[in-house]
Parts: sequence; structure tokens; C-alpha cells
Amino acid sequence: MSDQPVPPTAPSASLAEGKKYKVTVLRDKCIGAASCVAIAPKVFQLDGEQKAIVISQNELDDMKLLAAQSCPTAAIVITDVATGEQVWPK
Ligand code: SF4
Repeated sequence: MSDQPVPPTAPSASLAEGKKYKVTVLRDKCIGAASCVAIAPKVFQLDGEQKAIVISQNELDDMKLLAAQSCPTAAIVITDVATGEQVWPK
């Protein structure tokens, strides 16, 4: 077995894998469906009002995106921290 070659990535030191996307929950849109919690429990939790809160950004970007895409009300916004661009919802 040989080591996999590491693919070239963006040179920014602050953008390690899984740190490129920032998630935010729009509280007024959240209906507590909890699919985000099921997909990314390290990132989302329901609070006492059954609304999702972000407890950590420490998850792979793909999982953050998947969780956001699973939200039935598009209450999760994903922003690219490097560019400030909104990645989801489009
Ligand atoms: S999936 Fe959307 S509606 Fe459901 S808890 Fe998460 S943010 Fe709220």
C-alpha cells in the first residue's frame, strides 16, 4: 500500500479542510425538524425552543452543506469564509 498523493489545495493557511464554510441558522425560519442535527450533530443542536443552534463549525464542509440542503425551510445559510460569498441557499 502506498500513501495517496495529496491533491493541491488553496494555499491559504486559514482554510484547512472543513474550515472553508461557515454555517448560520436563521432562527425565524427554523421549525425544529432536526434533520440538520441528524446529519451534523457536531455542528447543530436544538435548544429549549426546539430551534437549531450552531455549537461548532468543526465539521467537514461537505457535511455542513449536506445538513443545510436537508433543511426543509432553508434556515441554514452557508457562507464561504474566504470570499464572503453565500454558498447555500443559492
Ligand atoms: S433542519 Fe432546518 S428547520 Fe430543522 S432544525 Fe435544522 S435548521 Fe431548523
